[in-house]
Amino acid sequence: MRLSRYFLPILREVPKEAEIVSHRLMLRAGMVRQESAGIYAWLPLGKKVLDKICAVIREEQNRSGAIEIMMPTIQSADLWRESGRYDDYGKEMLRIKDRHERDMLYGPTNEEMLTEIVRAYVKSYKDLPLNLYHIQWKFRDEVRPRFGVMRSREFLMKDAYSIDLDFENAVIAYNRMFVAYLRTFARLGLTAIPMVADTGPIGGNHSHEFIILASTGESEVFCHADYLDMPPPAAEIDFRDPAALQAAVDQWTSLYAATEEKHDVAAFEAVEEGKRLSARGIEVGHIFYFGTKYSEPMGAKVTGPDGVERPVHMGSYGIGPSRLVAAIIEASHDENGIIWPDAIAPFQVGILNLKVGDAGTDAACEQLYATLTAKGVDVLYDDTEERPGSKFATADLIGLPWQIIVGPKGLAAGTVELKRRADGARENLSVESALARVLG
Ligand code: ATP
Ligand code: MG
Repeated sequence: MRLSRYFLPILREVPKEAEIVSHRLMLRAGMVRQESAGIYAWLPLGKKVLDKICAVIREEQNRSGAIEIMMPTIQSADLWRESGRYDDYGKEMLRIKDRHERDMLYGPTNEEMLTEIVRAYVKSYKDLPLNLYHIQWKFRDEVRPRFGVMRSREFLMKDAYSIDLDFENAVIAYNRMFVAYLRTFARLGLTAIPMVADTGPIGGNHSHEFIILASTGESEVFCHADYLDMPPPAAEIDFRDPAALQAAVDQWTSLYAATEEKHDVAAFEAVEEGKRLSARGIEVGHIFYFGTKYSEPMGAKVTGPDGVERPVHMGSYGIGPSRLVAAIIEASHDENGIIWPDAIAPFQVGILNLKVGDAGTDAACEQLYATLTAKGVDVLYDDTEERPGSKFATADLIGLPWQIIVGPKGLAAGTVELKRRADGARENLSVESALARVLG
């Protein structure tokens, strides 16, 4: 992409309304625009990052055996009357009437709809296990939308739903998602700690919130410090092997970790001195086994091997990709801007032409641009008339992991400058070496 042809509405001023760093940086970097309270338009740079996050989530969901579908944003109120949640959900639900005066709603989540689909098609234990997910916009009329896309009213969610014959199989499904989540967050450059969460009337301990530590987080959390260095499950883990899954889950639940609402002071005190971490955290994912809570009232039943019909056991598994964009920025930035992990950077490489119009500099930049593009690298070529200082500032603000700085002086000596955004390291290299480094 040539910056001169791109749409990157950078703001030089820090927007007043933004209270936390991720919100400020997302506005300054031209990633999102607020359209009404808690409702955002995603501009090109933001959309690219969002898509890359979704791609990682999708890969790990698919690897674990989940299958992607797409359910609508608008749902019928009747579905929610069946589960009894239409009245319970309260003001967070955006209720709509269509032209025939039928009650509709903008989905805050999809348990009912998924249960309806299961009820229609899944009849036998032989069709199970099944896990269906989609990545779709949700609407929750939050009392206090704030912090930009961190707590918005319209937000993107990956929500998966597992369907199993009984509790034992549902736990295996739960563990699959647990492992997939650990891998997903690690690939996004985050250390997300699974913390015991409330199960309400369902009971049991199969509910975890995945929390990343950040000073601006809304939850107060307590955990063992060793979680910060625990390696995520390997890509090779066999999702069809219940013992391997259980071992990974056991390891990741072996140490103390809880949010304020489930905090057990005595258990936390028992953690050795120096390893007790109390901090603020951001919830980026939540997994939950809810048994027959929806299948029973809605009549989603399968026939077991014994020929007896029974309601299926289900769980739901959410990740917020739009919140993740902000959460990743909270975890990775400096005073100059965003520092994207390579996996989700909007562009992997920036080429900064310090003297547009100079034939040699232009030619070298064009050559680099063509070579990298041909290799499938996402490149942003700054071919604008801006001053060098402003080009450096932009590249750092939007967090390009590699920056190749090209000017007549360096070229005369046969070099370009290669800068690594993460640590600011700069090196003068030949064009070939710079390319090799970036492509390596
Ligand atoms: P919170 O406690 O933060 O309000 P929740 O418990 O209501 O979230 P879930 O229903 O568990 O959220 O939704 C799954 C995921 O969707 C969350 O882990 C989060 O990543 C994301 N999410 C939920 N609400 C919002 C929101 N208002 N804005 C952005 N992302 C959200
Ligand atoms: Mg939650």
